[in-house]
Amino acid sequence: MNKRRPLIAGNWKMNGLAADGAALAKAVADKARAGAPPCELLVCPPFTLIDRAIAAVKGSPVAVGGQDCHAAVSGAHTGDVAAEMLKDLGCAYVIVGHSERRADHGETDAVVKAKAEAALRAGLVAIVCVGETEAERDAGRTEAVVARQVKGSLPAGATPANLVVAYEPVWAIGTGRTPTPADAQAVHARIRAELKDLIGEAADAVRLLYGGSVKPSNAKELMAQADIDGALVGGAALKAEDFWGIVQAYA
Ligand code: PEP
Repeated sequence: MNKRRPLIAGNWKMNGLAADGAALAKAVADKARAGAPPCELLVCPPFTLIDRAIAAVKGSPVAVGGQDCHAAVSGAHTGDVAAEMLKDLGCAYVIVGHSERRADHGETDAVVKAKAEAALRAGLVAIVCVGETEAERDAGRTEAVVARQVKGSLPAGATPANLVVAYEPVWAIGTGRTPTPADAQAVHARIRAELKDLIGEAADAVRLLYGGSVKPSNAKELMAQADIDGALVGGAALKAEDFWGIVQAYA
């Protein structure tokens, strides 16, 4: 029996102005308030909307998280936000090492690890993202790449309570393409095996999310896999109906 409580997390990326963000967070929260959700729910708005999202989900089972954080507590880091600042606002989670951060900002595994450690230091749950590019997949290197990223990005002190790992094949993000559920499961199993080497049997209780073109029509089959414990959702998280449709994979 899988005792891990599934998590469906929405990554809004750089989308939404004040009114849209508040309305989207409220729409998700209203659905969650209307009936006990079958899993944990999280929305990760851009920094500018976190405050409004937190106000909108108040009293609902929906948590709010950041999409990134800096490794330092404070200092001369123009444009950056510390994990402590997210915690201070009321965030519970932060995504680190998303492939768009790795690609657009040159974030290495070492940088991602430092950010994940900052998350833990601040009392946030770190969602550490890993995933291969299409070229790496075509070269048959998917599992080796993902194993290297897990090893290099894992924060010291990781436990099932403060760590979630998201497997997001880069070629599946925003493309409408997904691995077969069996292929996704195989990578998740490899991630769990890698975690076992790093943190021992506790790895069995760490939640592993799949991300990359998840939508209501494919969520159930993906979420049914033994080592897939939820989803990190991009595009489909921008419409409350679609996000809720994905949540129904666990209904
Ligand atoms: C993401 O980038 O985290 C993601 C999963 O995006 P999408 O669902 O749009 O593929």
